[in-house]
Amino acid sequence: MDFNDTPEEAAYRAKVREWLAANAKPKSDANDNLRLAEVLKRSKAWQATKAEAGYACITWPKEWGGGGGSTIESVIFGQEESKYDAPAGVFAIGLGMCIPTVMAWGSEEHKKRFVKPAVRGDEIWCQLFSEPAGGSDVAGLRTRAEKDGDEWVINGQKVWTSGAHYCDYGIVVVRTDPNVPKHKGLTMFWVDMKSPGIEVRPIKQMSGDSNFNEVFFTDVRVNDDQRLGNVGDGWKVALTTLMNERLAVGGGMGGTSVKDLVEMARSTEMDGMPALQNGSVRERIADWYVQEQGLKLTRYRTLTALSKGQTPGPESSISKIVSAKKMQDLGAFAMDMQDIGGIIRDPEISAENASPQEMWFGAAGYRIAGGTDEILRNIVAERVLGMPGDIRVDKDVPFNQMPRGK
Ligand SMILES: Cc1cc2nc3c(=O)[nH]c(=O)nc-3n(C[C@H](O)[C@H](O)[C@H](O)COP(=O)(O)OP(=O)(O)OC[C@H]3O[C@@H](n4cnc5c(N)ncnc54)[C@H](O)[C@@H]3O)c2cc1C
Repeated sequence: MDFNDTPEEAAYRAKVREWLAANAKPKSDANDNLRLAEVLKRSKAWQATKAEAGYACITWPKEWGGGGGSTIESVIFGQEESKYDAPAGVFAIGLGMCIPTVMAWGSEEHKKRFVKPAVRGDEIWCQLFSEPAGGSDVAGLRTRAEKDGDEWVINGQKVWTSGAHYCDYGIVVVRTDPNVPKHKGLTMFWVDMKSPGIEVRPIKQMSGDSNFNEVFFTDVRVNDDQRLGNVGDGWKVALTTLMNERLAVGGGMGGTSVKDLVEMARSTEMDGMPALQNGSVRERIADWYVQEQGLKLTRYRTLTALSKGQTPGPESSISKIVSAKKMQDLGAFAMDMQDIGGIIRDPEISAENASPQEMWFGAAGYRIAGGTDEILRNIVAERVLGMPGDIRVDKDVPFNQMPRGK
């Protein structure tokens, strides 16, 4: 792949730069501690502005509110947008995973009703897959739905549901037939998060934030026309979501870069001289620089596949394994280097606006969300290196005959 812009891409980039300069706000550290209500207000306003100009969901068809553009245009826009104060996090799961699933498996009515409001940022979606007994092994989930006339009645519990406390809708995968092997008895529905019987309980994280939740379903009634895909095809439908998730999380989470770390080491004193002159500091920075280059080239492989209309392979699993560990190690190192200042997480008084601290707090979750390090290593071992698969003792056993604890 040629990494330079073609003349058409350069022209597109120039147009995007001009539009962003006229419409987006510059980055500001003052935004770091905004309250949720303000984050939602700003995010929705920015999403609507983008949708109006055809810059929201650039690769989606115009009839669904998208931009009708190419993958490369979407990448160029993302690169330029990241230089501005352009909040998009609250839409990441809905637009990155849930709505693509609705577009692939929903009826025409579903698409008409949900896609445009999501693209405009009027409605936000969450993904209700993980459960106390089904995380890495999501097909082991126990939330069940029983048919009652034209309706289904859902009972059970989801956990780690990002954004459920502010979301309007969600996609939920449930067990509709316990008499068949675990992957075969699942069905997917969309749910209104304000439905009677849904209770959302925020989880307090070690960072002090509450970004995800426990979600309890007690006799929640959904109509059969809220089904996405056939009864029993929930695993197939979930794979659409999970494939999009792998793409979305493979890109990394930003935060303190190696370039930022070099600047920090230049201005931090260690043993009476700038830390950048310390041999062990230089060695660590060099390691992360090499990793960053590898990640960049791996991302280009993904882009090459996308620009050829192919589905990227398991290389995004490699990106996530490396980038999540790098985030955690680099954050810890930067905090150590700040010495006593490293314990301060207040962006107004701490060095480098607490960016390493934020990154370190987030990295542990990033190593779990969207596939843990171990699961991703299994994927790389089996699908990239061709090693034998995990032993799957429950493969053909009906779900209700699988041994389990009480
Ligand atoms: C920040 C964050 C946001 C999240 N957001 C959402 C969300 O919006 N919606 C949602 O549905 N879920 C969400 N999750 C949940 C996430 O998908 C699960 O936490 C993840 O899949 C791991 O499942 P688990 O927590 O049940 O851990 P488990 O699957 O119980 O794993 C526990 C440990 O065992 C290891 N392990 C498990 N199986 C194997 C194996 N076969 N081989 C080797 N090791 C193994 C794991 O690597 C891990 O170390 C989120 C999680 C985080 C951290």
